Amino acid sequence: MKIIFFILSTIGVSLFSAGADAQNSAISTASFDGLKVTLCGTSSPLVAPGRAQACVAVETPEHLYIIDAGSGSSATATLSGIPTGKLRAILLTHFHSDHISDIGDFNLSSWVAGRPMPLQIIGPEGVERITEGLNMTYELDRKYRVAHHGQELLDPELGILHSHTIEEGVILDDNGLRITAFEVSHPPVEPAFGYRIDYGERSVVISGDSLVTDKIIEISDGVDLVLHDAMALQLVQGAENAARSFGNSRRATVLHDIQDYHATTADLQRLVTEADIGQLALYHLVPAPRNAMGIAAFTREIPNGIILTEDGMVIALPSNSEEINID
Ligand SMILES: [Zn+2]
Ligand SMILES: [Zn+2]
Repeated sequence: MKIIFFILSTIGVSLFSAGADAQNSAISTASFDGLKVTLCGTSSPLVAPGRAQACVAVETPEHLYIIDAGSGSSATATLSGIPTGKLRAILLTHFHSDHISDIGDFNLSSWVAGRPMPLQIIGPEGVERITEGLNMTYELDRKYRVAHHGQELLDPELGILHSHTIEEGVILDDNGLRITAFEVSHPPVEPAFGYRIDYGERSVVISGDSLVTDKIIEISDGVDLVLHDAMALQLVQGAENAARSFGNSRRATVLHDIQDYHATTADLQRLVTEADIGQLALYHLVPAPRNAMGIAAFTREIPNGIILTEDGMVIALPSNSEEINID
């Protein structure tokens, strides 16, 4: 059996992965009560080896929600053992491509894994257009899958994405899990949201792409875990200067333009000073560090104890405790 598992794993047989998902689901449901946060993507449009783009999975015994689905994140989620059969919705913070590229792959992997209802795509105004477009884009793919595997295995209705447009405020209150959407600052993208998730007296805030705002400071105060977008300004400025000196003015311009809509390490210092946060963890790293100098560019201005996340990292918050377990 081990040999078969190895061969199938090696060639990436998706239906076998679905079986593994179901097993993982049973294990996680039986063994852990709390908020289990898995980083399925920690980079940004500035690509980095070994990192998918923005994606966070938040799981309880009853629930699984994905927040953003950047390029490569569905594969990372599967490799991390995320039980996608439990997935009910993808919450989008905004519609930049590095947050939506893998929605189609999450839809397929969760459909194959036995998701019992259509996948909801939840987000601010505009989410309906994204969902309609994806449904059209994947129409032929759905047809081929159903024809090949049969309607018993792949109910055609469950392959069609449903959209749900939300406003700021509590957007879901279900069996002890509460999700609150709040507006963030990522101009010219409007609206752009972050999410706060509460379960079992534990809480996590996910910023999406944002500057540090008064609202994020307020909503993060008293929260166990804050996952925040982060930019090492010096590294981006250095890359801009290098691009300019090599005569690549188009790249230099882009690297200049992105400097005003992500949280810098100085902004994040303000966040940890003004809000009482159990653990600040940085993700959507601009750029994701590749060596000790890159890591230092993020950490040196912020007090000890912050985490620079990596793909596959799990941060577990057991219910009704103060523990924060990082794996
Ligand atoms: Zn963005
Ligand atoms: Zn982004």
